[in-house]
This record gives sequence, C-alpha cells and structure tokens, in this order.
Amino acid sequence: MSTAAPILLTPGPLTTSARTRQAMMVDWGSWDDRFNQLTASTCAQLLAILNGAESHHCIPLQGSGTFAVEAAIGTLVPRDGKVLVLINGAYGKRLAKICEVLGRTFSTFATAEDEPTTAADVDRLLHADPAITHVALIHCETSTGILNPLPQIAEVVKRHGKRLIVDAMSSFGALPIDARQVPFEALIAASGKCLEGVPGMGFVFAEKQALAAAQGNCHSLAMDLFEQHSYMAKTGQWRFTPPTHVVAALHEALLHYHEEGGLPARHQRYANNCQALLDGMAELGLRSFLPAAIQAPIIVTFHAPKDPRYQFKAFYERVKAKGFILYPGKLTQVETFRVGCIGHVDIAEMQAAVAAVAQVLQEMEVLDI
Ligand SMILES: *Cc1c(COP(=O)(O)O)cnc(C)c1O
Repeated sequence: MSTAAPILLTPGPLTTSARTRQAMMVDWGSWDDRFNQLTASTCAQLLAILNGAESHHCIPLQGSGTFAVEAAIGTLVPRDGKVLVLINGAYGKRLAKICEVLGRTFSTFATAEDEPTTAADVDRLLHADPAITHVALIHCETSTGILNPLPQIAEVVKRHGKRLIVDAMSSFGALPIDARQVPFEALIAASGKCLEGVPGMGFVFAEKQALAAAQGNCHSLAMDLFEQHSYMAKTGQWRFTPPTHVVAALHEALLHYHEEGGLPARHQRYANNCQALLDGMAELGLRSFLPAAIQAPIIVTFHAPKDPRYQFKAFYERVKAKGFILYPGKLTQVETFRVGCIGHVDIAEMQAAVAAVAQVLQEMEVLDI
C-alpha cells in the first residue's frame, strides 16, 4: 500500500511536478510589479502556444474552467445573438445550460457519445437557420475522451460568416491548435489541465475585434471579459484579487513545458501514456469505449467489468489504496470508468496503474470482464 500522495489519473486537478508546487511558496502582492510581469509573461506564453499574438488577446479569469466558458459566452454573444451548441457529452450539455442561464437564445445538435460532430452537420444546420450567430463546440469532450474535428468545423463556420466559440479545456497545450489556420472568435482553457498547473484560473483567447465590440454585452460585473481586459491593459493588474499562487504555479509549469519541448513533446508524452494504458488494459480484457480513430490522448473511458462482484466505489477505493486515483464514468447508457493520461506522469506510472487495476480485480474476484 502506498503512503505517498496518490497519482491523479483524472482530467484535473491532476498530478503536478514538485517544481510547480514549489513555485507557490511565495506570497505575492497584487500591486507588485514583479507579479504583474508574471501575469503578462504568462499571457504572452499562452498566446504563443497557439500563434495567437496578432489576432487574439489572452484574458485570464479567476475561477475554474467553467467560469471562463461562462464569461466568454456572456461577453462575446450579444444579447440578441443565437448560439448553436454542438453536443456529444456532459460538457456540451453544460454549454447549453450556460446559454439557458444567461438568457441567450440557443439551439442544440446532439450526436451519440461515441460519434463526433461533423463539419457536414454544421454546414447543414447553418444553412437551415440563418438566425444563428455563434457556434459553440467542445474540442475534446472529456466525458468520454472523444475528439471533435475542430479545423473542419471552424472552416465551415467561417464560410457561413458565423463565429466559433471553442471549449478546448482538456486539449489546449497538448493537441495542436493554430490560430493562424483555424478561425475562432474565442477559445477557452484553464491552468490545471494539459499545462499541468494547479487549478484556479481559466483564460480566454478572444479575437481582438470581437472583444473590442463586446462592451456592454455581459450580464455580470465579475465575468465581463471586456472589462477584465480593459483594466488589465490599462494597469497591468487584475481587476479583482488575483489567484497569485495559481499564476505563479502556471508560470513555472510553462517554463517546464518549454524545457520539455513544448506542444509536440507534451502531445507525444500523452500519446505514449494513452497507448501504454490501452495496451495494458487490453491485456486484462478491459475494452475502451471509443474506437482509436476518435480517441484523444487525454482520457480513456473503459467498459466496466460485467461481473456483479465489480462495484465502482470498492474498485476505486482499492486502486486508490495502491496509489492511483481513477475517475467514474459519465455515460448514461453504459457502465464505465475513466482513466486520465494527462498530468506530470509518463508510461511508468501508466503501467503501474494497470498493474494496480489487475491486482484489484483479482482481489475482488472479478472474473467476468
Ligand atoms: C475540465 C473541463 C471544463 C471545466 O470544468 P471545471 O470543473 O469548471 O474546471 C470544461 N470543459 C471541458 C471540456 C473540461 O474538460
């Protein structure tokens, strides 16, 4: 039984490096020039990851990722706009819920949880409803790990003269997205996912002209990205108390990211993790829910064993006692569990996690996989 802190194989919060956690051992004043430089440097590095410095602003926002998604929709979709929400999982449903709560008109298009939305779907939907002003898409739908075809959908949205809002929370930093090639009005991610920072801030890449035209759209004082950006551009400071330790940790995590080799290296490490996980689990007879072609190397959904002696809660507790935190499934129709491939882990940890799963299934006498 492991006494060390367990390894998080979840979609965030996730396992961070000691160095990233160490960066939080300083108390920063929010007026301090050095802290403002830290914020500016962090935003510049984030923009550089998607080649967005010319076209987009990076606006950081306190809170979890959902806060930033809500802020992006609230700020960029005018009150008389209409959003087409593309859904194939729980995070897509959350986008629709945000539109509903904010009082933005929206329609939804849902595909099965193992079926990506296609550019042809979006083309047809935009032809059918000229009132749509914005399309909202989840890049990697973390509730299964499915990858939606962002570049193709972005192309169609642009061809129709509409605007695209992308929740790239669980893909940004690991899967390539180039703002010079993929047109989007806003793309949203957060500190505690593939960049391997700690949770506590989101950020929105907002197209410069769209942001400049968004004054007065927002329903909320604190979630207004136009105001957040204007204040920061004027003063170099956050508008309200910044999550200082989170910014410092993200800044350190970004230094580490570049030393590791940036996006290609991060992508490769996660792809290796994902393959090691899939291979190891297949040897145990555990089947993944998605076919390889639409599986992002971020998180994998596995079918639960059929044996009645398998119960997720007991399975989870036993795997945790061996040092690994897994994640429950998020599907309504089939019994599943999930294992993340992201965080400061490599194939050694993935193989050890598979070995722990094998032992636990044996202990629980789960035979019917
Ligand atoms: C993690 C995640 C979010 C944000 O969730 P929070 O719990 O608010 O951090 C949003 N969208 C996707 C696709 C995610 O993976």
